[in-house]
Amino acid sequence: MVFDILKSLVCPPELSVYLFASYTLRAMKNNALHLLVLSHSFSMPSLKRVCTNILEQTWLTTENVIDVLQLARQCDTPRLSLICVRVVVKNFKKVSSSEGWKVMKRVNPDLEQELLESIVEADSGYHENMRKNEEKKMYLQLHEAMEALLHICKDGRRTIGPRDKVLKGSQITCSFPACKGLETLVCHFSICKVRVPGGCSHCKRMWQLLELHSRMCNEPATCKVPLCRHFTDKMQQQSKKDETKWVVRQQGGSSKECFKAFVNPKA
Ligand SMILES: [Zn+2]
Ligand SMILES: [Zn+2]
Ligand SMILES: [Zn+2]
Repeated sequence: MVFDILKSLVCPPELSVYLFASYTLRAMKNNALHLLVLSHSFSMPSLKRVCTNILEQTWLTTENVIDVLQLARQCDTPRLSLICVRVVVKNFKKVSSSEGWKVMKRVNPDLEQELLESIVEADSGYHENMRKNEEKKMYLQLHEAMEALLHICKDGRRTIGPRDKVLKGSQITCSFPACKGLETLVCHFSICKVRVPGGCSHCKRMWQLLELHSRMCNEPATCKVPLCRHFTDKMQQQSKKDETKWVVRQQGGSSKECFKAFVNPKA
């Protein structure tokens, strides 16, 4: 409509556009979409930039985003198009029930398909990120547990520690985040009476930590972590991973006895 009015004016089109654009900022904001079309038609990059900024920053809603997206594509403004697609992906439920979406679905099914694909893509990207974060968290926890295990075996804790160390009492604050949890786990491991192969779930966790430690240990000859040598020797004897696990579990009872000796009897 604006286009028709301007066409009917006798002055040259560029001047018409400038006249139109010289309205107050509010008028520009109100007509940003029309001005975008005009700036594109008459190749006026600076006006186009202003309109694009207005649309990006103050104009987009879930109701109009589909219309703006289609115009942005026609007017060759890739950044505005991208921002529109982001708004669609982020607010798909609302956008897909808007009038604009319904009309677009009918007249431009290719765009609908493209937007749906963007949503699926964003969704799988989100889940992939979640999975990676979970993995990172798990590795961090494991790393902290390994550090705390070394620290407890070297420095001792409130209730456990090497026999040649004076235990530090309850008021000591520790900088190892997994220290307290691991202390509880170690104490449980030394007294647990559950007699199933490999022990209860807590004991299994302890076995896994000890085995993992010995796999990574740099100095098994002088290491203070209980059973470190035991696992290392077993691993040297048995090259096959599964067999190693089996042998360790079969000897679990007696290995546990040497572990018990590590726990301070006075505690
Ligand atoms: Zn500690
Ligand atoms: Zn147990
Ligand atoms: Zn070790």
